[in-house]
Amino acid sequence: MGDLCTSGSSPLSYQQLSKLVEARLDIGSMARRLAVGKVVLVLDPHRRVWTEDEDESLGSCGFFSPDDFELRVAIGYKQWPLILLHEYAHFLQWRAGCKAWLNAKDDSAFWSWIQGKRVNRERAWAATRALFMCERDAERRTIKLLGKMFADLGLIDVASYIKRANAYLASYPTMTKQRRWYKVPPYQSKKLLVNMPGDRLINWREACRHSEIA
Ligand SMILES: [Zn+2]
Repeated sequence: MGDLCTSGSSPLSYQQLSKLVEARLDIGSMARRLAVGKVVLVLDPHRRVWTEDEDESLGSCGFFSPDDFELRVAIGYKQWPLILLHEYAHFLQWRAGCKAWLNAKDDSAFWSWIQGKRVNRERAWAATRALFMCERDAERRTIKLLGKMFADLGLIDVASYIKRANAYLASYPTMTKQRRWYKVPPYQSKKLLVNMPGDRLINWREACRHSEIA
């Protein structure tokens, strides 16, 4: 990750980075690699998408659902190419059967908790932490994918991506604390973004600290 963000290269905005990714993205080969795992890639024209069991209050810009063998991205959302990479990273976790993915498999305590249902508080927090670790691992893989994608360009500054990834990671303990899913995507919160590092992913303790100020 370190050699991806150097102070020597000029910083790219999140929008610029997304445009670069879009230009270089090989959707066909990505879809073929997903198909090996029997997963269908759906480019949804809307700005938001919902999984089978999500109600109106939830929803996101994209998801990978191994139960439905589907990776769906809301291409109505402007920076969808970066969301697609993130969801693809979840597919890679699933394929690899990585620990972070398996530990977060039973996340029902988190979802029930943020929907105000009766759940043991400790169980809710344990599920939140497992989800955080899973998302953090996915972001690590996404940053690696970005590095591979731009390997021929040499150094490329992805600090804008890392800052947003961190804001997203920090939203997990915040949601558990507030017992609700975010209304405004955390990566669009300027207040949160300025406090996020752009050269590394935050750990659980830092995320909890940021939830104090959110
Ligand atoms: Zn994710």
